[in-house]
Amino acid sequence: MPSTEPLESPAPRPAGRLGKALMRLLMKSAAVTAVERLSDSFRLITLEGAALRDLPWIAGQKVQVAMGSAFVARTYTPIDWDSTAGWTRILGYAHGSGPGSAWVRGLKAGDRCEFFGPRSSLDTRRLSGPLAVFGDETSLGLACALYRQDRTRSVACHFEVRDMEECAGAIAQLGLPDAGLTARQDGDTHVLELAATLPALAKAGASFVLTGKAGTIQKLRQSLRQLGVASARVVSKAYWAPGKTGLD
Ligand SMILES: Cc1cc2nc3c(=O)[nH]c(=O)nc-3n(C[C@H](O)[C@H](O)[C@H](O)COP(=O)(O)OP(=O)(O)OC[C@H]3O[C@@H](n4cnc5c(N)ncnc54)[C@H](O)[C@@H]3O)c2cc1C
Repeated sequence: MPSTEPLESPAPRPAGRLGKALMRLLMKSAAVTAVERLSDSFRLITLEGAALRDLPWIAGQKVQVAMGSAFVARTYTPIDWDSTAGWTRILGYAHGSGPGSAWVRGLKAGDRCEFFGPRSSLDTRRLSGPLAVFGDETSLGLACALYRQDRTRSVACHFEVRDMEECAGAIAQLGLPDAGLTARQDGDTHVLELAATLPALAKAGASFVLTGKAGTIQKLRQSLRQLGVASARVVSKAYWAPGKTGLD
């Protein structure tokens, strides 16, 4: 049975024969059947195979993809999951040169992919009312999953991003409606801009889903507290933090 321990240790072990053997033994294996290049940094990735069949999946769950070894993984959010046919899709964002970014950039149809999951991560099922989703490039997949799971529900998205044009293009191709984009600024001054959208959403009875950069989540949570939004109306999950690797 797969371990429930975090996959990353502070000093990841190199991908040796043991890591590869464990990967084959413990993880699910899928074929990469499509890699759609939405932009320089975004890839819409389809994984397919018998191991993806008959699995319960809910929007917000994660998969942990092996980066060549069971000891090094990076985490992604399925957009959808067809457990009858046996396929899922994730949206990979390559922000830099870490193993995850290299994997996203280098992946092609015909490759294999080993992963753990789907596993619980963020559960929005108890949230009522319209959803307000805050995040960044890494949150687009989650936003799609939430939007697709119930198209009658209002899902308003606000993303802090490095490249507004690139993200707007990716969002359009994904068919995500209603996304506000804010350009990242040095010193995070743009977070005030994001926070300025909160009072109207809070007044409208929205529930809040906060993902992406840890520091931004913290600031938005604080603003929501100051607005008197009950913690039962907020769920959050840090997807990355400066200086940390492989959060899950
Ligand atoms: C539950 C969960 C779900 C996730 N879902 C998705 C998803 O669907 N799609 C997706 O693309 N990512 C997703 N992520 C984020 C992704 O796992 C991280 O961005 C991951 O760190 C990227 O791996 P890396 O090897 O490129 O960088 P790492 O080696 O992990 O990080 C190196 C350094 O890069 C910086 N960094 C990391 N991520 C980012 C970033 N996004 N932007 C700017 N700087 C960064 C940090 O300073 C970090 O120390 C998710 C993360 C979690 C925890």
